[in-house]
Amino acid sequence: MAEKRTRTARAALATATAAAATLAFAAPAQAHPFTPTPGADGVGDPLYPTLGNGGYDVRHYDLSFDFTPVTYDFAATMRIRARATQDLSSFNLDVDSLAVDRVTVNGTPATWAIGPGKTGQELTVAPARPLRDHRSFDVEVTYHGNGRTKPVGLSGWRYMSDGGFASAAQASRADTFAPVNDHPSDKATWTFHLTAPQGWTPAANGNLTGRRAAPGAKETWDFSLKSPMAPELLGISVNKQSYVHGRGPHGVKLRHLVPEDQTATYRPIVEETGGQLAWLEKTLGVRYPFDTYGVQIVRDGYGDALENQTLSLFGPGWFDRPTYSTTMVHELTHQWFGDSVTPATWQDAWLNEGPAVYYAAVWADQKGFQPIEEKMRTAYDKLDAVRKTDGPPGKPTGLGGFNIYDGAAVSLYALKQRIGQDEFDAVMKAWLTKYRHGNASTEDFVANAVKVTGDASVGTFLRHWLFDLDNPPMPGHPDWGGTR
Ligand SMILES: [Zn+2]
Repeated sequence: MAEKRTRTARAALATATAAAATLAFAAPAQAHPFTPTPGADGVGDPLYPTLGNGGYDVRHYDLSFDFTPVTYDFAATMRIRARATQDLSSFNLDVDSLAVDRVTVNGTPATWAIGPGKTGQELTVAPARPLRDHRSFDVEVTYHGNGRTKPVGLSGWRYMSDGGFASAAQASRADTFAPVNDHPSDKATWTFHLTAPQGWTPAANGNLTGRRAAPGAKETWDFSLKSPMAPELLGISVNKQSYVHGRGPHGVKLRHLVPEDQTATYRPIVEETGGQLAWLEKTLGVRYPFDTYGVQIVRDGYGDALENQTLSLFGPGWFDRPTYSTTMVHELTHQWFGDSVTPATWQDAWLNEGPAVYYAAVWADQKGFQPIEEKMRTAYDKLDAVRKTDGPPGKPTGLGGFNIYDGAAVSLYALKQRIGQDEFDAVMKAWLTKYRHGNASTEDFVANAVKVTGDASVGTFLRHWLFDLDNPPMPGHPDWGGTR
């Protein structure tokens, strides 16, 4: 049934597009030729070719999301302000298992269809009037769904035993909550309006800006994230949870979330965040890039740790380990590496994970958990084989592997060994400063290192570490490597 509807809608879409194009060409002479064509269904990411979409750049997402705990039903509206980067007869948004009710473009109902995509589905929207290159336009998608629906791709929903949820959207799962341009290269500012029954506590990226009553004994909580964010870092939740407030260095607002019946257990842990922030600012020589931060610990339903922008998400299991602060520092490091400076493509994911593992290892060394040389030696030994099976750090065959985590950290350690601590610190600081709130690629990292050191051979050195199928020798450790 879905297939049939799709085909019919597609035929209507083609007709609408053709009619609109004809009208456009028949219009009075334009200053330049107006040639609307469909935007691409992907940005051509090396690892996820159909992730994201071509033809426009999102500037702002405004998500209204009304969630019913326990049943997981939701009703939502996503308002998107975007700018066309070509003349557009139609464009795509990434969705997955969202029941779309209505789509408007610039306030006028648009023709739309949902088709298959490689990591979910594609919502193709044909505006009543084609869109002109460089012009801003507004899209409004009204939709509903159920968080328990099995999506076509991977689900970002994490279910809590209290009947609530948290979003874990990396790398391609934001589309199970909202229509988005789901690629890290398209960052935008966000506002959220999360509605839940009274007694439930919503949270989202950014700052809480208001709370107001909503019909049906509900409440709407408004949030605003002023710094641009990639959809993969979406951090929304509705749970039986409590806010814990604090202040970090130079007044950074801290707001943490913990299960409401476990504040006594978790308050002392989340309050370690201020010290970790100060340590990272000192170590990196760069201020925390956002105006708020927090740690969200969920009661269950999620076992990992994830750097959702300004609100890192943690499963409870981490905090049974004496070294839990290392994981907290890992996700906090991501706020600089990954969230503020975001990789251009998923092929560049080592730029996220390498620094997160590296600086967490520096922390672990200073705290006496594990000497960094021991960790790097172990990683070095393992990386040589992983390069051949999963690809080198700069050209992985997928995400989540040792190569882009510890393998990338040992590559950064090699750079530090090669150019010395001061130059290494200067390279990382320049990287964070130049690409703050932007996107950057592996080649940008190499170019930055060459520029800061004034030494072209550093570029060759880094390329061997990032792209070779065999480990290069480790500077300063002639005894490393060899056969084991
Ligand atoms: Zn990480």
